[in-house]
Amino acid sequence: MFGQIYQIYDKNTFKCLYVGSTKCLYDRKRQHKHHMLNKDSPCYNRLCYKEFRKIGFENLVFECVYESNDFESVKDLRKKEQQYYIQLKPIGSQVNAYCSAEYNKNRVLELNRLYYYKNRQRMMDRNKEEYICECGCKLTRITKYRHFHSEKHKRLMEQKNLSQQITALS
Ligand SMILES: [Zn+2]
Repeated sequence: MFGQIYQIYDKNTFKCLYVGSTKCLYDRKRQHKHHMLNKDSPCYNRLCYKEFRKIGFENLVFECVYESNDFESVKDLRKKEQQYYIQLKPIGSQVNAYCSAEYNKNRVLELNRLYYYKNRQRMMDRNKEEYICECGCKLTRITKYRHFHSEKHKRLMEQKNLSQQITALS
C-alpha cells in the first residue's frame, strides 16, 4: 500500500505545526485548506486550524518527509507517522517545538546548500566549455567577453579581413 508521511511547517519560523499521514498528500492538502478556511467544516474550530489561520495558508509548507509503497496497512502507516511525530515534535504535541524549528531550519539550509553546490558545479562545467572565435582563438565562456574587446582579437580579425580581401582580389 502506498502511503506518505508529511509535515506542515511555518515557512518563516520553520516550526513544525502538524504531522500526518495520507495516501495522497495532494488531496490531503486540499482537505486541510478546506477545513482551515471553511466555517461550515466540522473541523474549523480545531486548535491546529486556528493556528494555521493565524499564520496564513500562504506561509504553510506541506512537505512529504517519507513515502513508501510497502505499507502493509493503515495501521502500519500510522505507526510510521508516530515515529515522525516524535521526531518532528509539532506544536501542541506537548513536546518542545523549538527543537522542530531548529530541525526544519537546518534541513532547509542543507537543501539550499545542496542546490547551491549542484548549481555551482553545473555553472563551472558550462564555463569550461570551449568556443572557437571567428578569429581562430580558443575561448571559454569566462574569457569570451573580454576577448571580444581585446587587441588580440581586433588584430586577428583585421588580418583575417585583409587576407580575405587579398584572396578576393587574386
Ligand atoms: Zn576572437
